[in-house]
Amino acid sequence: MKVALHWFRRDLRLADNTALWNARAQAERVVPVFCWDDAILSRPDVGAPRVWFLAESLAELGQSVEQRNGRLIVVRGRPETEIPALAKTLGAEAVFWNSDYEPYARERDARVAEALSEKGIAARPAADLLLVEPDAVATQAGAPFSVFTPFYRAWDAAPRVSPLPAVEDFGGAAVRQRPDADPPEISLPAGFDEAAWVPGESAANERLESFSDDGLGDYAEGRDRPAIDGTSRLSPYLKFGCISPRTVLEKCRENAKFVQELAWREFYFHVLWHWPEVAEKEWQSAMRGMEWDSSEALLDAWKQGRTGYPLVDAGMRQLAGEGWMHNRVRMVTASFLTKDLHLDWRLGERHFMLTLVDGDLAPNNGGWQWAASTGVDPRPLRIFNPWLQSERYDPEGAYIRRWLPELQGVPAKHIHRPHLMTPEEQGSCGCRIGVDYPAPIVDHAEERLAALAMYAAAKGAKRQQ
Ligand SMILES: Cc1cc2nc3c(=O)[nH]c(=O)nc-3n(C[C@H](O)[C@H](O)[C@H](O)COP(=O)(O)OP(=O)(O)OC[C@H]3O[C@@H](n4cnc5c(N)ncnc54)[C@H](O)[C@@H]3O)c2cc1C
Repeated sequence: MKVALHWFRRDLRLADNTALWNARAQAERVVPVFCWDDAILSRPDVGAPRVWFLAESLAELGQSVEQRNGRLIVVRGRPETEIPALAKTLGAEAVFWNSDYEPYARERDARVAEALSEKGIAARPAADLLLVEPDAVATQAGAPFSVFTPFYRAWDAAPRVSPLPAVEDFGGAAVRQRPDADPPEISLPAGFDEAAWVPGESAANERLESFSDDGLGDYAEGRDRPAIDGTSRLSPYLKFGCISPRTVLEKCRENAKFVQELAWREFYFHVLWHWPEVAEKEWQSAMRGMEWDSSEALLDAWKQGRTGYPLVDAGMRQLAGEGWMHNRVRMVTASFLTKDLHLDWRLGERHFMLTLVDGDLAPNNGGWQWAASTGVDPRPLRIFNPWLQSERYDPEGAYIRRWLPELQGVPAKHIHRPHLMTPEEQGSCGCRIGVDYPAPIVDHAEERLAALAMYAAAKGAKRQQ
């Protein structure tokens, strides 16, 4: 064919981009397009840090395309209108894109494909987002997996494809009358440090290189220590496809633990694909009648990192500062919201989506439902003790001190429970509990019992129905 469109969405890269590669193989000229989707931008869970990361990655992508004899067209509106209209104007015979598995994306892509077919233009979706497609593995009975370990075994044994080379020549820049759409206006939240990230494909590759040279070897031990840079920090790049999972796997496959974490990402896509209702509801139907508490004051204290539980607060401040939080601390803060504050996990899920640069429906929802014990995790109710987690994973309190300057002078023996300091000790370290740093807003031992009762009641109520 003479002209094809490649519709970029969450695949903002030239290397190992399956649909883009297919387009280039089949067309003399490939016109790449990105559409700022008003339906997504107006969603209440779309946060400025994520839009910022996307806009910056897109800007770099536009330059890369220009250096390769092409031009990235940027439009704004509804994809089902914009993409077919552009394809028609440019005389494209087909539109290529990489499949996405979120409920909204599935519906959107079906609408775009239909609108294209009405205009006689072919839709060419490709499998690209995951190493193993959500439908490519199943239990022996042919059902989707709801338990990670057997999923992992099947996933690990499934056939894999190798990364494709980068597209080096788009075959000519498209001439277009309309100016490109500007990125949406965003105002980054106060406290968010843009310097924490360099968005885009080149930075993603540099990050992968440095992690595989220095970090991967110690990943199994380092990954649970929030005070050290022990994980890859590739999550926002994977979210926006600045790097492909195949490229990451190729570099990191020697570390089984790391490969397993990539599989967790894929497991949650598998779950979302087969049970799209998890985006709204508890996966465990028994938990759908849970009576969550509601307290704006407790929710605000959690969001602001002022709960009086240092590891929780440090995590929430890291989230605000970097738009990212260490996985161990994501688990602790999520457990705290649901099991200690008894607030609905959807409130936490929404707050994470609004603040994370890597906010991604499948792993975020999976992580929240895991922490809330409402999801696919088969284990009985787990309740993290935030103090023990802190002692175990941040023994010297280095992570706590980095994010909570008010605890800077607190001696190591009190760093996990500063409220136990005597008034003299508080005075001598310059941290007055209740003034400089809050006393615990709830009592963990009591809230643990309350959580046990709440979950038992939800299960009991379901049984009686
Ligand atoms: C409550 C909660 C919310 C979460 N929300 C998100 C989210 O919105 N977006 C997101 O990408 N991840 C989310 N995670 C998973 C995990 O915390 C992050 O992927 C990880 O912290 C990213 O850091 P990294 O790239 O350095 O990870 P690494 O440890 O270097 O792992 C490499 C990659 O594997 C994947 N991965 C690692 N751990 C997990 C996991 N537990 N579940 C799923 N995938 C994983 C990620 O793609 C990650 O980039 C969430 C976890 C929890 C408990």
